[in-house]
Amino acid sequence: MTMTNSQTNLSGPTAKTTVPEKFVYFFAAGESEGNAGMKNTLGGKGANLAEMTSLGIPVPPGFTISTDICTHFNESGGKIPDWVKPKVLEAMARVEAKIGKKFGDVKNPLLVSVRSGARASMPGMMDTILNLGLNDQTVEGLAKSSNNPRFAWDSYRRFIQMYSDVVMGVNGSLLEVTLEDLKEDKHYKLDTELTVDDLKILVKKFKELVQQLTGHSFPSEPWEQLWGAVSAVFRSWNTPRAITYRELHSIPVSWGTAVNVQSMVFGNMGDDSATGVAFTRDPSTGEKTFYGEFLINAQGEDVVAGIRTPQPITKKAALSSGAVSLEEAMPEAYAELVAIYQRLEKHYRDMQDIEFTIESNKLWMLQTRNGKRTAKASLQIACDMIDEKLITNEEAILRLDPAALDQLLHPTLDPKAQKTQLAKGLPASPGGVHGQIVFTSEEAVEWKEKGLKVILVRVETSPEDIAGMIAAQGILTTRGGMTSHAAVVARGMGKCCVAGCGEVEVDYRTETMKVKGYVLKKGDVLTLDGSTGEVFLGEVKTIEPRLDERFDRIMKLADSIRRLGVRANADTPKDAETARKFGAEGIGLCRTEHMFFGADRIDAVREMITADNRMDRERALAKLLPMQRDDFAQLFKIMDGFPVTIRLLDPPLHEFVPHTDPEIKDLAQRLGQDFERLRMKIKALHEFNPMLGHRGCRLAVTYPEIYQMQVRAIAEAACDVVKAGQKLIPEIMIPLIATDKELDMLRTLSVNEVEKVQRERGVSFKYLVGTMIELPRAAVTADAIAEHADFFSFGTNDLTQTTLGLSRDDAGRFLGSYVSQGILPQDPFVSIDQVGVGALVKMGVELGRRTKPDLKVGVCGEHGGDPDSIEFFHKVGLDYVSCSPFRVPIARLAAARATLLSKKLHS
Ligand code: PEP
Ligand code: MG
Repeated sequence: MTMTNSQTNLSGPTAKTTVPEKFVYFFAAGESEGNAGMKNTLGGKGANLAEMTSLGIPVPPGFTISTDICTHFNESGGKIPDWVKPKVLEAMARVEAKIGKKFGDVKNPLLVSVRSGARASMPGMMDTILNLGLNDQTVEGLAKSSNNPRFAWDSYRRFIQMYSDVVMGVNGSLLEVTLEDLKEDKHYKLDTELTVDDLKILVKKFKELVQQLTGHSFPSEPWEQLWGAVSAVFRSWNTPRAITYRELHSIPVSWGTAVNVQSMVFGNMGDDSATGVAFTRDPSTGEKTFYGEFLINAQGEDVVAGIRTPQPITKKAALSSGAVSLEEAMPEAYAELVAIYQRLEKHYRDMQDIEFTIESNKLWMLQTRNGKRTAKASLQIACDMIDEKLITNEEAILRLDPAALDQLLHPTLDPKAQKTQLAKGLPASPGGVHGQIVFTSEEAVEWKEKGLKVILVRVETSPEDIAGMIAAQGILTTRGGMTSHAAVVARGMGKCCVAGCGEVEVDYRTETMKVKGYVLKKGDVLTLDGSTGEVFLGEVKTIEPRLDERFDRIMKLADSIRRLGVRANADTPKDAETARKFGAEGIGLCRTEHMFFGADRIDAVREMITADNRMDRERALAKLLPMQRDDFAQLFKIMDGFPVTIRLLDPPLHEFVPHTDPEIKDLAQRLGQDFERLRMKIKALHEFNPMLGHRGCRLAVTYPEIYQMQVRAIAEAACDVVKAGQKLIPEIMIPLIATDKELDMLRTLSVNEVEKVQRERGVSFKYLVGTMIELPRAAVTADAIAEHADFFSFGTNDLTQTTLGLSRDDAGRFLGSYVSQGILPQDPFVSIDQVGVGALVKMGVELGRRTKPDLKVGVCGEHGGDPDSIEFFHKVGLDYVSCSPFRVPIARLAAARATLLSKKLHS
């Protein structure tokens, strides 16, 4: 049997993928083969080029090689499959026919641009190569046909610079230095002063340099240039920059990028030519004003490169700077541009980001896409477009990115500020803060009291660090993931936190941290960006958040649409107030352990933990009772009739006690106890795996009096509040239930205690006793557990940890590799693992409601504030989500979107 060429050739079709029926799409006025709906195949840029040509907007003709070919390219070891080439040749012939020029022709050459274009715009990828097709012969042809040798040679030197950098990997600055040297020799200030002879010298020098640096001569054959550029676009899909960007924005590797090959139009043909970029509305404020920049006699990259200062497009914008606007310099082209942008905005019904070139006074559009905008601008644009009847309320909600609201809720680093990046960790809790570094919580508190701003730097934090975290402006940890203690608590407080920053080495002994060759001592200043995970040296300026009437309008709109309730995880009156301010409809999780760390009570907690017998334990608990009662009463009052779910004690007891001998000695002295006995007691609390150890409801199985005290405190506080005339239904929540028997027993304990208090006080009130579902066994036996529960709240932090067998405090160290290698789509502690953990949630809801059809079900793990997870929780029928107070607006918007998306799906 003989093998066909395609079977033997590495670059032929592979077993995995089949040759697509169509993969090269031509576009030209009236002849476009694609449209805006084909982003998956053509990428955003290609789809919109096709759409614009169909609208009759002037777009230089060209063709798009589809995203499928990127996948083939990668699967065949970085080669363009042979069967692609004939179709590209065909498409190029169609472009040639349209333009009346030939690719590679020495007399009247067709030049093309080659640009990448994925489904979502990706700044990590190769962007553009211009003027492709030039060589020592075609440049002469271009000089003659354009009657402008300077333009031809300038285009040629630009092409060599771009191509050698992007395709051949030559460090662009080396060629730039050659250009600058020549300008210096000739005493020129601007590139435009370079003469034809200068440019010829530069071209020669550039080519020599490329040969020297790469060992290869610069390709002169236009088709060789083209295949090199197309391959470079496909390769750029997998550069580290692109991979990082994809991970950050959850873009799957399988999408691939398309390549757009388009005939060149020239903005550098003289003073009647120009190039520019514009937004149909202001992308930073959202104001309805045409906003953009342009340069006369220039090519695209000059606008972004910052070599020459671009001029504003409109007369109005130019007024303050004294510059000449496009409106004044080229009034006809400007008028046409205005008409086109207005048409595009109406057509796409969204703010557009456009690129254009004017060649000898003729306007050409090179790109349009929905423009990126700040959160503030997105709200303004949404409200304005509703008012302009361009979009409906529902469309406005669907377009907003809930996660982006974070930007509005915390001070952020000034994007214009100078910065020196030291490291990058996980963006655990947003905000931009600076402060002097300290390495202990005690010092954080002391320095704060002295009026200083501090950043608490720890390997990781524990509940013991709460006071330090409260005192600090922000928290930096070198270990731990997105649901590590530091991350969860910081988010809850709305405090900036960068977690799991493994590049930083902390030495507690010398009170220093080392990173990238810097050694920072206690007291040195750092800035954290909790939205990106970046750590900067010194102080970086910030800008304050301001919530305006548009924010309120969008939130109200979201509330009118959503089905899911939104509550907050709040442990302190301050959290509860913030939660209410942001629109929370109750507290879905009050972690009572955080109340135990107050300076006025921690010793009583320790006395309780280290007691020898029940009597001593009860004596210590009696000291805590009035304090807990007061804590709960405050929360009930602030929540003013909204539900408050109080979770009884959860963490392992050893987290509350000191561990070093001097600290234990101090404690022994304060408690009037024997040091040795106390030390032995604390040692006995040690567990090898405390997260799976003596914690949660297991504490109450062995020490029921702890929960008894907490339930009594809740009931007494409720009596006081009810007596004062306020409505209230407290919800008592038992953590870490694995079996229905545990809940049966602890429900009985709770009910007995509440009823006892009600009898004692002669007050009656409604209350609920429910449980967290945070262990797989609880989810799969939820029907039995529901017999004893008035409600369920999914603790998806622990449920993720126990379902995947991943420690939530340590997994940050390797989860990044799992995500970058595509094993997991996202960090499962950030966005719920829908097929695994999510399946357990779904099962828990179904089984629970099989026993009690009206069972109230919510979620209080960190996923309750994650927009994708919220969409999932909506689908599986949860009643509410509960999240950090600062995430409440995000959850309100995400819940509204979830309602709309599921409606869309059903219709
Ligand atoms: C959970 O496990 O999801 C939860 C909310 O509890 P914690 O994070 O306090 O363990
Ligand atoms: Mg838990």
